[in-house]
Amino acid sequence: MSEDDVLALFRRSGALLEGHFRLSSGLHSAGYLQCALVLQHPRDAESLGAALGAAVRQHDVQAVLSPALGGIVIGQEVARALGVRAIFAERQDGTLTLRRGFSLSAGEKVLVVEDVLTTGGSTRETIEVAQAAGAHVVAAGAIVDRSGGTHGLDVPFHALVSLTLRTYPPESCPLCANGVPVVKPGSRT
Ligand SMILES: [Zn+2]
Repeated sequence: MSEDDVLALFRRSGALLEGHFRLSSGLHSAGYLQCALVLQHPRDAESLGAALGAAVRQHDVQAVLSPALGGIVIGQEVARALGVRAIFAERQDGTLTLRRGFSLSAGEKVLVVEDVLTTGGSTRETIEVAQAAGAHVVAAGAIVDRSGGTHGLDVPFHALVSLTLRTYPPESCPLCANGVPVVKPGSRT
């Protein structure tokens, strides 16, 4: 699956919008990404999982660990492609923890998967959860890398597509300067 194939899938499901958007932060952007909209289609989720699974197969992964909620669907699909189990970590009293009942064994080779990597913070936190359980994190993966290469993860990282969506304060937004009407993502124009 090429980067273009992945982006085409995103556009088709409305997960990637292009135009002129006012984000909830107040910033403006020419693009808007909502990964859940592509993952709502199980066949597409399975294709993305297969592609990410192929990219990480070399790491001889024994279990996939994802942060809830965003990472769960794609984690499941990558695990399906690799023929290993998929577990997740969730936030309890503010701290990311393995979901009750899940465990990792000492030295187990773990792949950490989430849907979109932005700063890398949530993947890093999930890596720490696995390491605290004694597992060996062999790699991390995401469908989309939005970090612009600045995530600084210290394990090998694989993404199907790199996407940098620039944001602008309204007063210096080039789309505003060109008189393009601004909309909230998801609203009809
Ligand atoms: Zn604007």
